[in-house]
Amino acid sequence: MALRNVLGAIVLLAAACTSDPVDLGITAGTSSSTTTVTVVETSAPTSAPELTIAPWNGHHMALSWTFDDGDPSHLRTVVPLLDAAGIPGTFYPTCGEIAPDLVAWLAVAEAGVHEIANHTVNHVDADGGDDVTEIADCDVYLADTVGVEVSTFAYPAAVVDEPYVSYGADRYVASRAGWAFVTIVRSSTAPDWTAVPSVFVGDLGEAPDDEGPLDWPLRAVSDTAAEAGWLTLTFHSVGTGLGFGPVSTAELEQMIEHSAQYDVWHATFADVASYHRGRLALMNTLPVASESEGWIWRWDVAPGMTDVPLLVSVDDGELRQQGRVVPRDTSGRFRVDPTRGEVEWRP
Ligand SMILES: [Zn+2]
Repeated sequence: MALRNVLGAIVLLAAACTSDPVDLGITAGTSSSTTTVTVVETSAPTSAPELTIAPWNGHHMALSWTFDDGDPSHLRTVVPLLDAAGIPGTFYPTCGEIAPDLVAWLAVAEAGVHEIANHTVNHVDADGGDDVTEIADCDVYLADTVGVEVSTFAYPAAVVDEPYVSYGADRYVASRAGWAFVTIVRSSTAPDWTAVPSVFVGDLGEAPDDEGPLDWPLRAVSDTAAEAGWLTLTFHSVGTGLGFGPVSTAELEQMIEHSAQYDVWHATFADVASYHRGRLALMNTLPVASESEGWIWRWDVAPGMTDVPLLVSVDDGELRQQGRVVPRDTSGRFRVDPTRGEVEWRP
């Protein structure tokens, strides 16, 4: 704040040098000479305007629905179900098992609604070594064969290990981990972007007698609503009863119905991570005076960012990116592209 005031004073000073002074003709009584007091009128503000960036794309909370291991039920059951509910999902197939269903995965990629991202080639962690072949090859396969730009990663079996952490930090907007004591990401704080926690949804046969497999996930969604935060859900097979931690189709539908009582931004893991990282980056940036009597914010763009726009409100004036006026949404909020790394306010 102190910096803003100093910069504001510099702008005022600069304006004083170029504007015509107004002579008030005040005569000092104790002096024989006339003292002239000048008042400078300038349109430039003395401090930067406050930018307000709506959390979670203008919604009360955010939910990301992620599905691991490329179970055949994802293509058969989950994609149609999510499409019907208008929910973009995030899929982490193991790259080495995509080939038999490649045509169907290509159709999902082509539709551009759901995210397909990295879960390694053979579902293995680095096993204490420093080999990144498994994660690097999966990126290449997804880009070259499936035709998607990879923005995120999910650790196989939720084992958060080096060197995947470092590899991901340089390339992905976020990497998804498993369960943690705190699973809700709040609107004012950044998670560890290399290990964003998620809530497991599925039957591991370990729930206490008085709890079903959905009790904790349903509660987590409600808790996220209470915190106005972001929650990531992790599923495996759906409607087959097979595989690791299965859920029934009815259970997935129950989760979707439960979330429908709240104002939720349903978005891919990549999109929510990008929005939240971009929002925090802009919020934590101090503006500097621009050459056009305005203010400019500059921030570092995280790797793997998608271009979902930030919804930004400001009392008056307009926002520009790369010299162009930023378009507004229907409620008058500017749609700022977080991947541009700068935005300018002009009076
Ligand atoms: Zn997995």
